[in-house]
Amino acid sequence: MEREQRQSQDAGGTPTVAAPDPSVGHTAVPAPAGGTAPPSGAPTAQAAAAPANAATVPGADKLDEFLNALAANDAALGKTTWATVSGSMKASIRSSAAVAKAGGHYPGGLKADPIESVIDVMKTDALPVMKDTGAAFDKVAYVDDILNLAGGVDAATWLGALKTAGVFDAWLGKMPSHAALTDARVHKLDPWMQAATTTADARKVFEQGYPKLKDTSYTPAGLKTAKWEVDDIKRLWTPMATRLPLAHVNTISGGFNLGTDEKIWSSTFTALGFGWHDPSVNMIVMPKASSIAGGNGTGHDMTGGDNSGVVAAGTAADPKLSHWDGTVLHEVGHGVGSKTDGNTFAQTHGDWKGGQTADAWSKNLFDDAAATAALPTPPPKKVLAAASARLFLAADVATPGSGALPAGWARPEVEAFITAHYAAQKLTGYWAKRKTNTPEYQADANNFNGDRTYVWLSRGGLNYTSYKKDITDNKVSWYSISSTVEWFAEQYANYYRTGKTGAGADAATKTKLESIDKMDSTATGGLSAPPATVSPGADGKGGGAAGGGATAGGAAAVGAAHEVDTSVAAIRARVHRMNF
Ligand SMILES: [Zn+2]
Repeated sequence: MEREQRQSQDAGGTPTVAAPDPSVGHTAVPAPAGGTAPPSGAPTAQAAAAPANAATVPGADKLDEFLNALAANDAALGKTTWATVSGSMKASIRSSAAVAKAGGHYPGGLKADPIESVIDVMKTDALPVMKDTGAAFDKVAYVDDILNLAGGVDAATWLGALKTAGVFDAWLGKMPSHAALTDARVHKLDPWMQAATTTADARKVFEQGYPKLKDTSYTPAGLKTAKWEVDDIKRLWTPMATRLPLAHVNTISGGFNLGTDEKIWSSTFTALGFGWHDPSVNMIVMPKASSIAGGNGTGHDMTGGDNSGVVAAGTAADPKLSHWDGTVLHEVGHGVGSKTDGNTFAQTHGDWKGGQTADAWSKNLFDDAAATAALPTPPPKKVLAAASARLFLAADVATPGSGALPAGWARPEVEAFITAHYAAQKLTGYWAKRKTNTPEYQADANNFNGDRTYVWLSRGGLNYTSYKKDITDNKVSWYSISSTVEWFAEQYANYYRTGKTGAGADAATKTKLESIDKMDSTATGGLSAPPATVSPGADGKGGGAAGGGATAGGAAAVGAAHEVDTSVAAIRARVHRMNF
């Protein structure tokens, strides 16, 4: 568990998020279903366009009149007619007899399941009808119709109507959740989240897909927390829902705290300005201080930050990230790194070698013989031996201003001698930067020896460390070279910041991230490779099952989906990567 970067300035950045998936409309299902042919002489599609006749056929029961009103796309007539239908007839709306009878009247474009036509035609007025029939909500297809904003009604209006009808919880309750929700539904839920006006509603939408929002501290002795309020929840949701795979966020199986003060790295409770991921409990702590409009600006040194050392263009393809949004992507990256071979890959790919002795490590940046040879002739009256200077510098880059002094030397003398006589050594250059509070990991030419980088790192227990110089040369942010796990988290955040282009990542890293991107959730919050094969119609191209039939050729899958909900949920869960 490592503390992350505190916001260093208020740059007033604006979080940039991808537009949500356009919602997907209904797919027409040819009626009648089940091979029931219209009776001879039954109205054709054209005849049904003249509903007044059909609705007034002598002897037609009230349910038939109601179904005809739907066929005529007459919501007002449907509403008034429904009030006249007897309770037993209402309950029979989905009976095979009613469906067969209604089917004769249905032109193409209405649904084989009458309830879906009720939703489509009557829009929010469908909800009382659904309650009357016991259909609110007993099929995922109905849930999806409304999630897809049936009737062109926006999410805010649907949300209000569901709550007014008292079926908002029932609607979410029938919707697949967490790993089974699917990425397509997460994208469609985004406008619902944005429409939420209460903490309770925002929390319900959030927790439909993601782990728990926890109002109480997971470690009260070290962390004080605030309760998650509606705006905090939206801020947490948005970068996840618009950028990250559902399965990845579910690696944070312990849930989310919103921290205000910490006493883990500070001796007394101190205002929290950074987030962290705790792999022991699979939790993320987000800093409440950055849950403000603009996400506390872009003045950080993570990917997408103004101080990252890799300036983002600020375009859609290469956006800046606020401190809040960057922290979200980064911390989920830790979750993914800990639940896959991501962290191991980071270690191996960079050939990171930490825990070196100060003596061995410092020789890579300080040549005792060359330094000694460069002393003036005659030598100074009091000479600080090269090896002693080197060990002092090694100590002082770790703890600037506090490194152990050579015996018999005061700090001003040491610093003056080194500055006067050993300035040509790389370690002196690194030390000079550290004296001015340059972060330990911001390596430059002073840290290079051959094809490796030599730095002192506080994170990950690395301390005196070397790694491949290519890692420094191809960094995606300064913070990415602060440890192996930070390197993975930053590569991950950069990959999703850039819409999975992985700009700036080397080829092997991009390949690794592409592989991880396709992984599925496991029951324990881990990630595993997706099945080698998926059934036709359930892959990305045939994503109509979860996508509501957006794709060409998806109609057959949709038809099947509406009849066998459980099976569809299983398919959706298995192929969560579809559609984007
Ligand atoms: Zn981190």
